[in-house]
Amino acid sequence: MSGSLVVVGLGPGSSDLLTPAAAKVLHAATDLVGYGPYLDRIEEIIPGQRRHASGNRVEIDRARQALTLAAEGGKVAVVSGGDPGVFAMAAAIFEAVEDGNPEWRELDIRVEPGITAMLAAAAEVGAPLGADFCAVSLSDNLKSWETIERRLRAAAEGDFVISLYNPASKARPHQLGQAFDLLKAIKSPLTIVLFVRKVATSEASVIVTTLAEADPALADMRTLVIIGAAATRLIPRKGLRPWIYTPRVEQEVAR
Ligand code: SAH
Repeated sequence: MSGSLVVVGLGPGSSDLLTPAAAKVLHAATDLVGYGPYLDRIEEIIPGQRRHASGNRVEIDRARQALTLAAEGGKVAVVSGGDPGVFAMAAAIFEAVEDGNPEWRELDIRVEPGITAMLAAAAEVGAPLGADFCAVSLSDNLKSWETIERRLRAAAEGDFVISLYNPASKARPHQLGQAFDLLKAIKSPLTIVLFVRKVATSEASVIVTTLAEADPALADMRTLVIIGAAATRLIPRKGLRPWIYTPRVEQEVAR
């Protein structure tokens, strides 16, 4: 089979955070496939290059479409925000390969990494991921809410810094509040909570608060929520946002 398929991470927002390797793939592609708003972020128009936009709930259909285009000889780039392997299209592509046309296994398929929202958000505020951390998607489109609660409880018991992807959407307005309630039963009310919205864009914003005071309404689908570990702390600065960090060395912390 002559075609190829690369699942490409566009980074969290600004083109500065798109890797040169990802930019090369986008430039060389005959076909760009992805969720409409991600495709819209790619400004460069390459003559003859086709764009195939789709909604954000049709990942497996989109994966099959991309594999079909590649099997027909296209140089296909499937785009994701952030990193394509983090709650995004890369896994959908492999799922479609595993269940699909056996010939797809012969295709040249590659994943081109990107900077995931969690890393850009952490860099924006300091170094909250300095010690052990985990990432949980709060979306229950693809898994049950019971599973999400079980994982949150385990992460809190393990005192991980927790990054919450997909904290809220119009269809799921209540889940972040439920997650905070669950965490409050295990973690200190003084635990640092960060709402980092639209990081790496001109509209980026950061809210620093505590678990006791965190208002779930502050999050939407463009927000990453970071919940500190017991040792996560802030360094206050006059008139400036504090730095937030988690020390790498384990400390005795009153819980
Ligand atoms: N593959 C993406 C994540 C997809 S899930 C990545 O690696 O970043 C979508 C979730 O990512 C959003 O609901 C939000 O929680 C987070 N996210 C993506 N871009 C973001 C940004 N610029 N600022 C803050 N959060 C972002």
